[in-house]
Amino acid sequence: MVDHVTAGPRADPARPGSGLRALVVEDEPELAGLVASYLQRDGFEVAVVHDGQQAVDLAREVDPDVVVLDLGLPGLDGVEVCRRLRTFSDAYVVMLTARTDEVDTLIGLSVGADDYLTKPFSPRELVARIQAMLRRPRPIGSDREADAARVFGELAIDVAGRDVWLEGRTIALTRTEFDLLATLAQRPGMAFSRRQLIDAVWGPNWVGDEHLVDVHVGHLRHKLGDSATEGRYVRTVRGVGYRMGRGT
Ligand code: CA
Repeated sequence: MVDHVTAGPRADPARPGSGLRALVVEDEPELAGLVASYLQRDGFEVAVVHDGQQAVDLAREVDPDVVVLDLGLPGLDGVEVCRRLRTFSDAYVVMLTARTDEVDTLIGLSVGADDYLTKPFSPRELVARIQAMLRRPRPIGSDREADAARVFGELAIDVAGRDVWLEGRTIALTRTEFDLLATLAQRPGMAFSRRQLIDAVWGPNWVGDEHLVDVHVGHLRHKLGDSATEGRYVRTVRGVGYRMGRGT
């Protein structure tokens, strides 16, 4: 069963988040309803499903901007849902887990979620994290110089348009992957620590395992034609973190 939460009059018409779609995938109806109501209050159009297969089907239909995804679901679990989602969607995915140690396992699995929250969590914090991420379409500010296209060898990044080309072909990045790349590209010579990258991409209030950055860098490197452990464009700086390379 699919519950479409009816959108009432918008509580805060000044909020710029209007028109954003969220999909809540959670088999505990009470929790699903709670998360949905917080998101709805925040201006999201919300759909709720209670199992994994419905989540994948509905995501194809509604093309959500945000997916809140429980790990433990009947049928397809959250890991498999996330893998399938990633074949067609760059939605911002927040995974809900029952135990802290599950997060480490998930980070190891590289399922492609953007963020993780351990139950019990505050729905207010969940919405704050989502809003922080969505408010950050340009992690490097909005001045004209920052918006200019940046070129690193065969790699071109159009920050304002959020497009990336490698050897003349468009590369499909998730929101998180793009923001990481754009942040690094902002200061090409500079080594960023994992914490600096988390502050820039996930926001300063993000709390969790900083190796989440490594997982997303691994995905990014793959898409840029490199191995997960070292890249021509996203270089490892030992003992520090990452910096942008020239592609050679
Ligand atoms: Ca569950």
